[in-house]
Amino acid sequence: MPAGDDRDRIRGALLGLAVADALGAPLEGVAPRVAVAVVGRGLEMTGGGWWAPGEWTDDTAMALALAESIAARGLLDTDDLAARYIAWATGGGKGIGRATASALVGAGDADDAWARARAHLEATGLAARNGTIMRATPIGLAARGLEAAVAAARHDAQLTHADPVTGDASAALCPALLARRHGGDPLRAVRDQAADERPLAVALGAVGRDERALARLAGGPEAGACATTLALALHALAAGYDYEHGVRWVIARGRDTDTNTAVAGALLGCPQGIGAIPERWLAALRDRQRIERAAQGLLVPPEHGLRPAGAPERVSFPGWVGDPAPYIAGATVLAIPSRDEAFSQTAIIGLAHGVPVIGTEVDGLPATLGGGCGILVPPEDPQALAAALERVLHDELPRPRPLRSLAERHAPARVAAIYESTYRGLVAPEAVGAQAVS
Ligand SMILES: [Mg+2]
Repeated sequence: MPAGDDRDRIRGALLGLAVADALGAPLEGVAPRVAVAVVGRGLEMTGGGWWAPGEWTDDTAMALALAESIAARGLLDTDDLAARYIAWATGGGKGIGRATASALVGAGDADDAWARARAHLEATGLAARNGTIMRATPIGLAARGLEAAVAAARHDAQLTHADPVTGDASAALCPALLARRHGGDPLRAVRDQAADERPLAVALGAVGRDERALARLAGGPEAGACATTLALALHALAAGYDYEHGVRWVIARGRDTDTNTAVAGALLGCPQGIGAIPERWLAALRDRQRIERAAQGLLVPPEHGLRPAGAPERVSFPGWVGDPAPYIAGATVLAIPSRDEAFSQTAIIGLAHGVPVIGTEVDGLPATLGGGCGILVPPEDPQALAAALERVLHDELPRPRPLRSLAERHAPARVAAIYESTYRGLVAPEAVGAQAVS
């Protein structure tokens, strides 16, 4: 699927979430008959109560904190994320829910938040609310695969809610978003994910089949439960509603209108992109630029804290790779612009495959690349590095022949054994005795 399509889907989902949240905010808590009447008169960004027109609530605020953490730190840095959540909550956190406030306001770090969440659950018994599914959307938008998404969603939920069902609900949203991004049946994907999770499976049973049962969930004691929110959002898809009709249908069910509609809005806005969201609603949305930036940041989230600058479509971050040789063999050039480098296994792999290797004159690199094996440039000298790259790219240097024997001499297991023996000799020389250290 072309990157541009996914970009539009991610944008549509995040803006769809925020627009729906802002539309639902003024009606939060109202009885279904009141909500039906308001929606029947025409749903617009009027604001109401303590919400200004176009102003979104805690649902979007936390989703943005999560999206911005993913963009900066990858999927999922709980320490970074907890710091962002705590800063928002402790700084006022407009619209914050009770469980989330108990966990975050004044908390020191992720562990502290988790301990507070457990204490809140024990004290109140208020379980399985929708305070985590409301913010989980960025995980489903940034994740490359379901397994990583589900793990991240559960970890995120634990920062504020101790009932594991909340994590199940956040996790169950992920296959729906992945199906919306990449083509697939979101309802089937969620049912597969949540088949063994009873509170969710019961609510999901009514999706696409029984609107009255869903209305009872939304307007009765199950209002605000994570299973109810997920079921309403999925029904808006199963019923075939477009963005506007789906949002209107969910808000008209009353009670937790902002959160129910925020989750539905993300799913409804995902496949068609922002073209599906009425322009009059988008035009009134607060802080649209911040949401657009957050969506862009989700398109290529960093791994291991790295982030491509300016050329996201041309840079791939495969994460940990057990055997990097296939990524290096056949390359035009291998640049190792290290500031510190005791010994470079990467350089050895490049030399072994006949790839021209450019490295800096630091620490152990000259020992590997000297004597004409590779090309050495001064450290911290971009011009020298660029000149060396140009010489290789313009074929000004002979193509090196593969140094297979070098790779054998420096095979990782052999090098590791040498390190081990050396360290043992340094720690307890008498124990090593006359053992040779080559
Ligand atoms: Mg809210």
